[in-house]
Amino acid sequence: MERTNPATGETTETYDEHDDGQVEDRLSRAESTFETFRDWSVAERETTLAEVAALLRDRAAEYAELITREMGKPIAQAEAEVEKCAWVCDHYAEHAGRYLQDERHPSPPGSTVKTVHEPLGPVLAIMPWNFPFWQVFRFAAPYVAAGNVGLLKHASNVPGCALAIEDVFRDAGFPDGAFQTLLIPSDRIDAVLSDPRVEAATLTGSNSAGQAVASTAGENLKKTVLELGGSDPFVVLDDADVEAAATTGAWARNLNGGQSCIAAKRFVVHDAVYEAFVDRFVAEVESFTVGDPMDRDTDIGPQARQDLMEGVHEQVTESVDAGATALTGGEPLDRDGAYYPPTVLADVPQGCPVDAEEVFGPVAAVYRVSNEEAAIEKANDTEFGLGASIWTNDLERGERVAGRIDAGCTYINELVKSDPRIPFGGVKASGYGRELSEAGIKEFVNRKTVWRQ
Ligand code: NDP
Repeated sequence: MERTNPATGETTETYDEHDDGQVEDRLSRAESTFETFRDWSVAERETTLAEVAALLRDRAAEYAELITREMGKPIAQAEAEVEKCAWVCDHYAEHAGRYLQDERHPSPPGSTVKTVHEPLGPVLAIMPWNFPFWQVFRFAAPYVAAGNVGLLKHASNVPGCALAIEDVFRDAGFPDGAFQTLLIPSDRIDAVLSDPRVEAATLTGSNSAGQAVASTAGENLKKTVLELGGSDPFVVLDDADVEAAATTGAWARNLNGGQSCIAAKRFVVHDAVYEAFVDRFVAEVESFTVGDPMDRDTDIGPQARQDLMEGVHEQVTESVDAGATALTGGEPLDRDGAYYPPTVLADVPQGCPVDAEEVFGPVAAVYRVSNEEAAIEKANDTEFGLGASIWTNDLERGERVAGRIDAGCTYINELVKSDPRIPFGGVKASGYGRELSEAGIKEFVNRKTVWRQ
């Protein structure tokens, strides 16, 4: 596996894949560790997770640089990512015991009935490169807090991050088998997932990867949580604060170089404020600095891989050929590295790539709609259902509109973001199951009934 810096295109390090024997060692260590780890008290797991948080903060500069060098996000955003990982560890260090408390149920006279929450065992996590620390900690903190053990198959372009995360769990005091990385390509996932020692799987990534994993898990009757793509609408109604919407919207689309499942991708704007919004929005995205991700003034770094950048450009080119107008951007930057400028497309025809597909890069599609009903219709005109952002000065109206949008989360006058305290996940082709909060820790536990007579 290669570590290639997307800012330069240089391969700086290579890692040997784990061979079958090494994978077998890790599976067997996961199984034997689980037998003792499941008996750790929740309090012990909480204390050790707090130690993970502390180590992440101590090593924040080192890990942020690793993230930036492997996938190209601006260094300040990488630092914020490491801090968010520490936050999710702190969150479960504080709340896991409460989330996992026994539940008492009404029961016939003379009996008591409760549900207890027991861990399942080794959980396989297949994770993407876009938030190479956060996506992993988002599953790892709750699942380890619940007493499961984790096996990470990370994206092939971030092997350094994968190994660093394994280190931090071990260094904090978790047993060696509580969190392990498998350096394997995706065509070796089936064998691991089919192994009887693996109890369940969670995947964040593209829909094709989700379908492949869900299908193997289904054949083996294993539970999955899938967090897949999104094409989130950002709805600007006629009574919105246009300036706030445009400023926040520009970030909502371009944070992390636009490579986020919950980025705002389709801007659905009421006719009455369309011109004002688009003028301001284009000015905002044109004000972003695109450049060296190690430079603190950079807002948008390179795309994570050259092939991904070319894929985004193909989606833009095909959409323009189909009739869309590029208001800004639209051509890769003429320099080394996978640089793509923030791009805004208007007059976007229905069914062209930026309309119908997930665009995982800094490309916004803007639509003009004549009324609220048309805005809701356009917002729902997608196979995805991850998040939605709605802008209006009337909060009741905002909630009414939110109630009609098919999405796992809706934000009124705010961009869509994940937060350890709040359930996160999608509907429709964006996947199923929830991460974070109490919902996330309860995805991979045996809710066991205990009846006493
Ligand atoms: P992938 O979905 O291919 O990669 C995500 C993870 O899934 C990686 O660990 C990858 O491993 C693994 N994977 C890939 N194919 C399979 C498979 N058939 N079975 C099991 N696991 C698999 O993302 P890409 O890097 O190729 O990006 C392509 C597109 O996916 C993006 O443009 C974007 O649209 C979407 N995406 C969405 C993300 C999200 O957060 N929802 C995150 C990343 C991508 P390996 O790296 O070894 O192939």
